[in-house]
This record gives sequence, structure tokens and C-alpha cells, in this order.
Amino acid sequence: MNNQAEKTLHQALENLRSWKDSFGNQETDSTLSVPDSNVEAILFDLSKRLKGNYPFHHPVYAGQMLKPPHPIAWAAYALAMSINPNNHALDGGPPSSEMEKEVMVKLSTFFGYGDEFLGHLTSSGTIANLEALWVARQSNPGKKIAFSENSHYTHGRMCGVLGVDSQTISVLEDGSFDLNSINPTEIGTIVVTLGTTGLGEVEPLDQILPWAKKHGIRIHIDAAYGGFFRTLKDSGLIDGTSWKLMPEADSIVVDPHKHGLQPYGCGAILFKNPEVGKYYKHDSPYTYFTSEELHLGEISLECSRAGAAAVALWATLECFPLKENEGFGPVLAKCRQAALTGYSLIVESDKLEPYKKPELDILTYFPINSSTNNVSEISALSKKVFEAGMKDQSFYLSLFKVPSSTFTRLHPQFTADEDQVTILRSVLMRPEQADFVEELVKRIESHL
Ligand SMILES: *Cc1c(COP(=O)(O)O)cnc(C)c1O
Repeated sequence: MNNQAEKTLHQALENLRSWKDSFGNQETDSTLSVPDSNVEAILFDLSKRLKGNYPFHHPVYAGQMLKPPHPIAWAAYALAMSINPNNHALDGGPPSSEMEKEVMVKLSTFFGYGDEFLGHLTSSGTIANLEALWVARQSNPGKKIAFSENSHYTHGRMCGVLGVDSQTISVLEDGSFDLNSINPTEIGTIVVTLGTTGLGEVEPLDQILPWAKKHGIRIHIDAAYGGFFRTLKDSGLIDGTSWKLMPEADSIVVDPHKHGLQPYGCGAILFKNPEVGKYYKHDSPYTYFTSEELHLGEISLECSRAGAAAVALWATLECFPLKENEGFGPVLAKCRQAALTGYSLIVESDKLEPYKKPELDILTYFPINSSTNNVSEISALSKKVFEAGMKDQSFYLSLFKVPSSTFTRLHPQFTADEDQVTILRSVLMRPEQADFVEELVKRIESHL
């Protein structure tokens, strides 16, 4: 955490303490006391054990979708957590509930829904998508939910949880959905992923939207990973076509705990039509007392939720507006730049080949040498370099499995001697990696 946020956190905690003390000095009960020496020993031991992690904070980590939150989010979360508000009912935390509503208006405005919408934070993208699919089921009962073969596995699984029939749509070579393979009269909702979890691909909303509208099919956008890239829709750094059409969709999921600089425990769901709130209607004998205003628990499947998560996102958005040239835009632009630079270095490399051109900031590639013919050799080389980097701590990548038929369609010079091929994948979600990627590629090459 940077020093300024750390210093300010201590001051802010002090400030809060004077408010706490204003209710009268209260000694902590003896049953809760822990000897100082135990606290010290345990936290010291913990700091040792936590070193068993991979270095998510450092640009040498170019593996999965993981990074620490921004220090401002960290400090805001810690400060709010010392009170531990619960954003279920307004009774559980009036200020943090208010901040959640403010944050949701910012997200809604950012995605083009404006102030007329329904939405709230969730504990994850999984829960946010579950709510979207549940509302999809309630809105179009008896109909299927369709999603592409590249969508997150949660959609298939949650259709099972909800007891809804689902259908997987194949993706054609040009990235379009094979809409001829499905019967539109059976489909109630189609999921479109803007930024797939595997390759960071942006599914063709421009193709699907007119088709869905014509057949009265709902559209749910899963932008859990990609959502914040909408800041770059007019920048020329990415293809903005699908991002610009987001306001046309019925629901949107985004995960602030992925590209939104937040600690885990922060997803979000937004519905374009606030009337879907009727599906959430319930009465609780325990809660909604202090006000006639909207209690967030009345529009959420989850009951208790961390008010601290809302506070952390609120503080972050105060510092980082959702704009192209200020706040999030420049951060995402650096990540995108890292992927583009990495891609061109790999194109030039004689030891690495790009698997596909990145659409966002996820780079996929594979090692080769002068005698590589079969996909099994590529898998072996990928695993070797993946392990070698971790062993001497010079870089951390992730592995990605592709069906050999898909792989050889893109790279016909190789023979499919196995059903699957393992390649390398780097999620370049640290802006520092725009500069570091050159060193990263050199380090990978030196291990081949
Ligand atoms: C990560 C992700 C999810 C699941 O979200 P969690 O926050 O991990 O629960 C769903 N869809 C997409 C596209 C994702 O990238």
C-alpha cells in the first residue's frame, strides 16, 4: 500500500475513534482480550505464510486475473470495516447504503442506462450473473437461456441451479455466433460476453442485437471481466462497436473486483428496466424499519453484504472517474498497450508464436523451436517454460487448454497428435506491464 494512503488511514481511524468514544468510554470485554505477545506472534506467522502466494502485486506476475486492490480501496475498506456496516437494510448502514446507490448511478451512467435502472453490488460476478439469469427466467418463463461456447462456465451451472433449459451456441471462425443453429422461438434470453474469461474476446453484440430484438429475446451482457474497457470505446485502442451498444441490453454484469481496483467481494448487476424489481419483492419481519426509502436488500438475492465493499468502490470512483482520458481510461489503456506491445514482440520472436491477436489485455501464445511439428511438443514446451519461470521467480504465467481442432485451424502447420493443446496465457492487468512486457518476453525467451 502506498505511504500516503497508509498514513491517512491511521488519521481517519483516529478521527472515527473520537466519534465512537462520543457514546461513552467502553472497555472491551475480558473474554475478547488477546495477549499482545499472541497478536504479535500470530501476525508474524501469518506474514510468513502469506509469502506462499505468487507475486500478484508485481509485473513479473503475468498469469491469471489477480492483483491487489488500489491503496485507496484498501484504506476505505479497512476504515469502513472498523464499523462493519451491512448493506442489506438501510438500518445496517445508512452511509454505506447511500454510497452504494451513488456508485450504482455512476456505473449505470457509464454503461449508458442513465438514472432509470435497477441495480446493486453483489459479492461476486457469479452471484450477479445468477441474479441476471433468475430475472431472465422470471421475465420469459418456460424459455431457454442461450450462451456461447466461450462464455463463463457459471452460466451453464446456474441454469442448472435455476432449473432452466440452456443451449450452447457455437462460435464461427470470424467470431460470430452460429445463430442458424438455434430455434429463436425456444430462446428467452441470450448471454453475450464482452471480454471472455479465457481469451478476453468481445462477442459480437452488433450481430446478435438485431436478431434478438426481432425475436423478442432478452440480452444479458456478461462484462464481469471486460466492463471497464468501455472507457476505451472511442479511443481507437480497441474495437468499440459492441461496447457502444451496451445500453441496448436488458442487463449487465461487471466485476469491480477484477478490473475495478477492488478487493474481492465486489460484483455488480444492472437492469435496464427498473420494473424487474417486482421479482425481488419480499417482506421481512426483521429488517426494513428505519425508512420508507429503498432498502438495498429489497432488490437483492443476497441478504447480508459488506457495506465496506460499497465504500471502497465509492472512494475509488471519487479518485478514478469512468472516463477515457482521466481515471480508469488511462489505466485500461496501459493494460491494452501491454497486450499490443507483447503481441508484436511475440510476432517477431523466433521462439514464441501468438495464438490469437488480443482484443483486450489477455495475451495467448505458445513456444516453438526449429523442430516443433506436433501439438504435443507445444504442450510440453508450454509446461516447461511455465514451470521454469516460477522456479527461478523471474515470471509467472498461466496455462490454457485449447481443443487441437481449433488450434490447427488457426495454425495449420502443426499436426494434432493429441486432442488438446496447452498454450501460455498472460492477463496483463497491471498498467506497469506496458513497460515491463518487453523484459517479460525476453525472460520467457531466455528460458526456451
Ligand atoms: C470472472 C468471471 C465470472 C465469474 O465472476 P466471479 O467474480 O469470479 O464470481 C463470470 N463471467 C465472466 C466473463 C468472468 O470473467
